[in-house]
Amino acid sequence: MRVSVCSKRPILESCDLKDRDYQIDPYIGCEHYCYYCYALEGAETDWSEEILVHEDLVDRLSAELDGIPPQPIYMGYHTDPYQPCEAEYGQTRKVLELLAEKGFSASILTKSDLVVRDMDVLKEMKDAVVSVSVAFNDNETRKRFEANTMDTERRVEALRLCREAGIETGSLLCPVIPYITDTMQLIDLLVPHADRIWIYGLSIMDRSGRSWPNVQEILKSHFPDLLGRVEPVIFSREHLFWTKLREELVVLEEKRGLDLRIHV
Ligand code: SF4
Repeated sequence: MRVSVCSKRPILESCDLKDRDYQIDPYIGCEHYCYYCYALEGAETDWSEEILVHEDLVDRLSAELDGIPPQPIYMGYHTDPYQPCEAEYGQTRKVLELLAEKGFSASILTKSDLVVRDMDVLKEMKDAVVSVSVAFNDNETRKRFEANTMDTERRVEALRLCREAGIETGSLLCPVIPYITDTMQLIDLLVPHADRIWIYGLSIMDRSGRSWPNVQEILKSHFPDLLGRVEPVIFSREHLFWTKLREELVVLEEKRGLDLRIHV
């Protein structure tokens, strides 16, 4: 993997998530290269070959943070802060240390257990949150859709360790792929370790973008019987598949007293 310096741009960006005003992407591009990733549409490089980093990350970010009051900063919106090159480059670690030093906190979303390395900094922060994202019940299927991510079990173990260390945890069950993801089974796996679970279905807006041909190719090659069933569901939020799943999730949430954020 080639890691290059990106053109100068603000490191602190606005964030449109509820309760989060700002986000930071320590990397531009994502080695995990999930074939369904919505961020592929705006990719500046081929993520299988080149990832970008900010120059003078700490000094520039420090100046940008001086302009806003301390608050939780989201990390993991466009790229994974714990993609493999973080083990060597430590950009995310640098951001976290700076945030902690200035009284900020972090809300992290990742598909990697490397986040465990930084529990010492996260524990220092008030209200830090670590969430892992999962979507596949078996690792063979996961590898079809996510080229370079790690096993679901390792992500869940990271969540367990964070929670044990007193860090607030969450999970993003995303993307639910119709007839492939067993949502209920994954919820059972996550419930003991996640304070809350967000659930999102696979959402592809544009057939001419990069995600749909990728997903279509995977379905054709490995799940040919499902292709005709999955396609109409992915492109219609009103499809009976989603209606039924929503209803089942609401029942499950009430019956077991879970904190589910249902967005399917
Ligand atoms: S980990 Fe997230 S940002 Fe990275 S490729 Fe996968 S979906 Fe995209």
